[in-house]
Amino acid sequence: MVTPDQAIERLIDHARRVDDTESVPLADAGGRVLAAPVGSEHDVPPADNSAMDGYALRHADAEGAHKTLPIALRIPAGQAPGRLPPGAVARIFTGAEIPAGADTVVMQEHCRESGGEVVIDTMPRPGANIRPRGQDIRQGQQVLSAGRVLRAPELGLLASIGLRTVRVRRPLRVAVVSNGDELVEPGEPLSPGQIYNSNRYLLCELLRGWGFEALDLGIAPDDPARIEAVFGKAALCADVILSSGGVSVGEEDHVKSVVEHLGALSLWKIAMKPGKPLAFGQVGGTPFIGLPGNPASALVTALVVARPFLFACQGRDDGQVRPVNLPVAFERRGGPRQDYLRARVGAHGLELYANQSSGVLLSACWAEGLAVQPPGRDVQPGESLGFLPWALLR
Ligand code: AMP
Ligand code: MG
Repeated sequence: MVTPDQAIERLIDHARRVDDTESVPLADAGGRVLAAPVGSEHDVPPADNSAMDGYALRHADAEGAHKTLPIALRIPAGQAPGRLPPGAVARIFTGAEIPAGADTVVMQEHCRESGGEVVIDTMPRPGANIRPRGQDIRQGQQVLSAGRVLRAPELGLLASIGLRTVRVRRPLRVAVVSNGDELVEPGEPLSPGQIYNSNRYLLCELLRGWGFEALDLGIAPDDPARIEAVFGKAALCADVILSSGGVSVGEEDHVKSVVEHLGALSLWKIAMKPGKPLAFGQVGGTPFIGLPGNPASALVTALVVARPFLFACQGRDDGQVRPVNLPVAFERRGGPRQDYLRARVGAHGLELYANQSSGVLLSACWAEGLAVQPPGRDVQPGESLGFLPWALLR
């Protein structure tokens, strides 16, 4: 048996990163992966500007007894500010550039304006209420590194430095194959012995959520010739083949022999539950991952083991996640393997779905993530376990 961490490490050793890149408009770049570091050609903000609606002045001019000053300028946001004459103030608005000659902004609530003059009731410290040039980003500064997924903050940031397009990696292409004679597609009638193919939808949606292109190759029956045809096709069109089912030890599990025939395969016993059997290899040089067939096992192994590998292939920098420690509200004995328990956060800590069977997919819909219970580690209410919220695995 290998530990989950060892399995992840071995997989990542075999990852080949997608190196094709493309330039996309910023508006279409959400969820894409930055192909190269980005630096700023500008200071952000580009000039000192006012953090308040108020009056800009030279601090020294308002000191002493005389605090009534003439209004010489009016500077709304978006206008070039001009120069402030000595002894005068500028009416200024939030975001407007500070005029040369001013060093402080007095908020309007601390002033009274009448007849072209302003009386200042309370003076702030010198430099108050000014957002200095470059306080967010300095010209020449690297703001994002390669491998970063572009989400809302990153897109806003790239816009703030004036980028119109951004260079990203081509989405990883992952072929999805569902193995099993018993599988039929939702919407079709179920004959005795059959079940609906849920892994197809589960896996394709995971892949799309990770920003990959899911190539859905449907069902491969438990027949070596048919499996060979599907895998052969998958190897031609995909960067990675992700299959579910058919990798246990029964004589109906033909996936292993087919992959061995077309390329190479090793079957790993990973010390995790659910998800002990996992196959890894290659078909005609294309990496192959064979997940267990039970839907909850397929989900957990896809999230815990396949995800870091696929992220490495995509060149994403966020494949490795660290669980957050949370107290548990339950008592449970540690098993011989590491348990990935479908759990949610209740008032007194993590709570478990009652049936943790690898065939019970409702557990994952009820849960907010996976509680990680190391082998042999008994827990009592109030003690902590690592928790992987679904959001960390997106
Ligand atoms: P296997 O790994 O082929 O032995 O499958 C293990 C269990 O998972 C069996 O009960 C299968 O019927 C079930 N299973 C396999 N593939 C799927 C699938 N795509 N959707 C739902 N259940 C599946
Ligand atoms: Mg099967």
